[in-house]
Amino acid sequence: MANHSNGNSNHTAPSLKIPPIKFTKLFINGNFVDSISGKTFGTIDPRTGEVITKVSLGDAEDIDLAVKAARHAFDHGPWPRMSGSERGRIMNKFADLIEENAEELAALDAVNGGKLFTLCKVIDIPTALKTLRYNAGAADKIHGTVLKLSKGLHGYTLREPIGVVGSIIPWNFPTIMFFMKTAPALAAGCTIVLKPAEQTPLSALYCAHLAKLAGVPDGVLNVVNGYGQTAGAAISSHMDIDKVTFTGSTEVGRKIMTAAAASNLKPVSLELGGKSPLLIFDDADIDQAADIAFRGMFFNKGEVCVASSRVYVQEGIYEKVEKKLVEKAKATVVGDPFDPKVHQGPQINKAQFERILSYIEHGKREGATLLTGGKRVGEKGYYIEPTIFADVKDDMIIVKEEIFGPVMSLMKFKTMEEAIKRANNTTYGLAAGIVTKNLNVANTVSRSIRAGIIWINCYTAFDVDCPYGGYKMSGFGRDYGLDALNQYLQVKSVVTPIIDSPWH
Ligand code: NAD
Repeated sequence: MANHSNGNSNHTAPSLKIPPIKFTKLFINGNFVDSISGKTFGTIDPRTGEVITKVSLGDAEDIDLAVKAARHAFDHGPWPRMSGSERGRIMNKFADLIEENAEELAALDAVNGGKLFTLCKVIDIPTALKTLRYNAGAADKIHGTVLKLSKGLHGYTLREPIGVVGSIIPWNFPTIMFFMKTAPALAAGCTIVLKPAEQTPLSALYCAHLAKLAGVPDGVLNVVNGYGQTAGAAISSHMDIDKVTFTGSTEVGRKIMTAAAASNLKPVSLELGGKSPLLIFDDADIDQAADIAFRGMFFNKGEVCVASSRVYVQEGIYEKVEKKLVEKAKATVVGDPFDPKVHQGPQINKAQFERILSYIEHGKREGATLLTGGKRVGEKGYYIEPTIFADVKDDMIIVKEEIFGPVMSLMKFKTMEEAIKRANNTTYGLAAGIVTKNLNVANTVSRSIRAGIIWINCYTAFDVDCPYGGYKMSGFGRDYGLDALNQYLQVKSVVTPIIDSPWH
């Protein structure tokens, strides 16, 4: 444990424990198997940069094998053909097993992702669980409509599962992302080939094992570990995958969409990056506003796509909010995520760590004022101080590009119109926040900002029944809610003449 402001090494922390690792192979057609090449790769503990364990390395040929299993399970297996209530029953059993193994799953995400163990227990695993149960409950409520057609014709729609789904997920919320993508697809009756991020494969493999125990038939849920340029690219270009769902960077989203278009024109849904604005108005409660802004930015060490990385404060309360934010940053304990006293763990890996530090250097060079933070913590692992810049100009790189780390840009505004304009001055449109007591201001701003989710007097307030996704270059398609489920269904219209009807 270390307080970042006193410069102690975080490696004096008492617990460098690693939970038992039970599953490291690829999960294809209901079995854990080696990759065809026999290759493995080391998955890293970001507290130390050391290898936790070796994991099988899947490639295009392993993806192909998994797609064949998923295709067979879709075309001939029971999953898409069983009743929705039966699928829901198996999914609820799957959820029971997640609940029973919550502590172990939380530990895997903490050790693999540098995430706070306590928060994994109270946020990540319960959210994943709720997603699974929500979709289990929706599985028997999928139905089409009866159509009122022209004279003599009877029509109705069927909602059919879209087919084999390829899911490519990132590392910042490994178990949440796993279920965000698989739960609605399973409810719809689809079969799945999922590639976890190469940084965080461990919890996905554990979940695959629990799916089998719950009775999810072989071939329905396949997990192939591997790198993006090989295994990931093989998913987006595969001719026998019917849909791709992706969460990750805008740059990779573009590649996935291009590959999907160039292969079989499969539909894609993309949840991409963000540079989300938070607007704090003069009438806000200072403590509440600072709290919302701080948590909005520094939750999960800033590795959150909706992070409130651009904070605009109205001039009347700017100085007070700035002071509170700096106090909070200085009081943040950075260190081992298994230590309950720690507030912020290490960044995911060396590449991300170096990228964040180089953005901080950019900010200093561009002339922004470094209010607090800016340095690494300790000599080992990927720890960075919570960092706040002031005097940030709208054209600086730190306020335009997604940093995906604990770096906040703080800015001052005069009028609501100015704040709206500056908030919308971005290529992204994932989320935004407003802090005010004035309902009219809240309503006007929430309708004026082009983003997929707006939080008023709160931030990162997710719920599994609340659709979530991007505008602009933050992507398209929605996760959560019935909007997510609908992405894994397609509508078929059936029309037939009714000869001899007594009604016409
Ligand atoms: P990334 O886009 O590089 O990786 C995400 C996933 O895509 C990984 O599984 C990776 O292996 C895979 N991938 C990489 N290259 C690929 C390719 N050519 N073809 C197919 N798959 C490929 O993202 P990252 O750097 O690991 O994660 C950080 C980024 O993800 C940030 O920009 C962040 O905003 C974004 N993100 C967005 C959301 C969201 O919900 N919108 C959530 C988390 C992260």
